[in-house]
Amino acid sequence: MNKKTVRDIEIGGKRVLVRVDFNVPLDKSGNITDDTRIRAALPTIRYLAENGARVILASHLGRPKGTFDDRYSLKPVARRLEELLGREVPVAEDVVGDIPRRAVERLGEGQVMMLENVRFYAEEERNDEKFARSLAELADVFVNDAFGAAHRAHASTEGVARIIPGVAGFLMEREIEMLGRALASPDRPFLAVIGGAKVSDKIGVVGNLLEKVDTLIIGGGMANTFLKAKGFDMGKSLLEGNRVDMARDLMDRAGASGVKFMLPVDLVVSRAADPEAEWKVVPVEGVPEDWMALDIGPESARLFGIAIGEARTVVWNGPMGVFEMAPFARGTFSIARSLAESAAVTIVGGGDSAAAVEKAGVADRITHISTGGGASLEFLEGRQLPGVVALQDK
Ligand code: ADP
Ligand code: MG
Repeated sequence: MNKKTVRDIEIGGKRVLVRVDFNVPLDKSGNITDDTRIRAALPTIRYLAENGARVILASHLGRPKGTFDDRYSLKPVARRLEELLGREVPVAEDVVGDIPRRAVERLGEGQVMMLENVRFYAEEERNDEKFARSLAELADVFVNDAFGAAHRAHASTEGVARIIPGVAGFLMEREIEMLGRALASPDRPFLAVIGGAKVSDKIGVVGNLLEKVDTLIIGGGMANTFLKAKGFDMGKSLLEGNRVDMARDLMDRAGASGVKFMLPVDLVVSRAADPEAEWKVVPVEGVPEDWMALDIGPESARLFGIAIGEARTVVWNGPMGVFEMAPFARGTFSIARSLAESAAVTIVGGGDSAAAVEKAGVADRITHISTGGGASLEFLEGRQLPGVVALQDK
């Protein structure tokens, strides 16, 4: 990676503003249902504290729409962080101004505090320069460890790094290295599995990966549009009629550049996207008129599994079916297991795909599961992430 990291700068005694992605899921009573994102930032926080920095954490949580709203307070997140770190993490009741300034003044070397939700200010998402300046005034250096927010040019992800020197945290570094190496210099054969609901969400990803992979597998709802382009009748399946030509074009491009392009050969079809509804396995040419494809079939999973087994780098984004419902989760879980069993470098990007790998119980056997949903997609599309661009070059 050509960006500086926390290892490359002097941090002892310094006030360090750390942008983390603590946008954790909360239940209706405000309890944290998954603290993966908090845990993912621990190495950076610990490193900074152990090396004598005064650590000031900043994050967003939910969409409070630019006003103070207790439902989106970061206090419950700070409590969880205290448990994980085994040290106190006071929360300033504001993001900028006198309250955080005084809290930072009280902060000793090796101590950790948090600012309130940066999205309590509309200026955050507008990347307002004055607001970024107020944030920057709290610190001497900036550390960005919020890969999940790096695709957004907001004040706390991008603006602040224009004012004080910015470097990457360990999580950010790992994300960029893992995803970056897969795209730039993968061990071959390089295979990508792309799924999810819609082609329109993934055109950029498919287009970019097509230039780089040896094999491209398409599954999930978006495969329907490709199968339609090949002339199959897809019944009531989710299908983007206005993307059929584009799907055909992508397949032509794959053919022209010698990329092996694989689509499902069989499908799980049902009368409704309902776990109680009747379902059956049919070949792709046999989708009944009133039925919809909700998963890849077992033969497809088997063939995809063989291809995955032969690859040395695998990038997976997008479930193979409606994995939220048990009858339509088998294809997705089978792919998850194939990745787990493979000797390849395996990388999973996308929020639902990461959840599927967890649900399949194989998360610990995947080389890298990206913590950034939208950010990992934009990375796979080949785009520059503004939160990364703003950091100092090595
Ligand atoms: P990710 O978050 O990993 O990028 P997506 O958001 O693109 O993945 O896709 C996940 C969604 O796609 C899931 O909610 C899943 O139910 C849906 N999906 C997958 N296959 C189908 C299908 N055949 N029909 C309808 N929806 C599907
Ligand atoms: Mg998703």
